[in-house]
Amino acid sequence: MEITKHPSPNFEDRDPSTPIDTIVLHSISLPTEEENLEMLCCEDPGVSAHYLIKQEGEVLQLVEEHKKAMHCGKSYWQGREWLNGNSIGIELSTPNFCPFSPKQMQNLAELCLEIVKRYNIPQTNIVAHSDISPDRKEDPGVNFNWELLAKYGVGLWPKNFETDLKADMRKAMELLAQIGYKTGTNLDNVLAVKAFQRRYRPALVDGKLDDFTHSRIVTIARLVDEYRGIV
Ligand SMILES: [Zn+2]
Repeated sequence: MEITKHPSPNFEDRDPSTPIDTIVLHSISLPTEEENLEMLCCEDPGVSAHYLIKQEGEVLQLVEEHKKAMHCGKSYWQGREWLNGNSIGIELSTPNFCPFSPKQMQNLAELCLEIVKRYNIPQTNIVAHSDISPDRKEDPGVNFNWELLAKYGVGLWPKNFETDLKADMRKAMELLAQIGYKTGTNLDNVLAVKAFQRRYRPALVDGKLDDFTHSRIVTIARLVDEYRGIV
């Protein structure tokens, strides 16, 4: 795929003993595409990502993969914190919160597949910024189509979801933690439910563990479990 280099100064050296094993997906929604690109390349506030996929699908590389891009900040997934060190960050440009375009999704999938192959990244480590920093971040947001991405072979999506299971807080938190979310305090638990809903039940993101959300948590936890069993 065609990738245009557009270097950002906002990176650090990676710790060579920390392998790359995660992809973090973001969206950036300033009023114009130029502002989105500028935000990831100016020295203040010093943020960046490895890639920015523009609205019409053009892929820009801002930071070399062997360097650490400054894209997720304080974060947690599967027991690890501060994921900049072990991840590749991909930003989707959605000026003024416009929808993700089909070409943008297609090129995102193609880019992810290449990265997954390069580093042997597990499907369970393709995450939203909102999954790993749920106290601060909502991107790529409720309009991001995870099901479509999974159809391209990136990330897990079930054929069917469980329905009609009874909400069970203790069990749900155990399963969310197994999937990767940070749980523990009451606040952590509410934020984990919200992050899960944002991705798997975007019609209602309220942080409440209803039967519907619980059923989806059980489905995804099972899918993750099955996947881990075969890799
Ligand atoms: Zn983000």
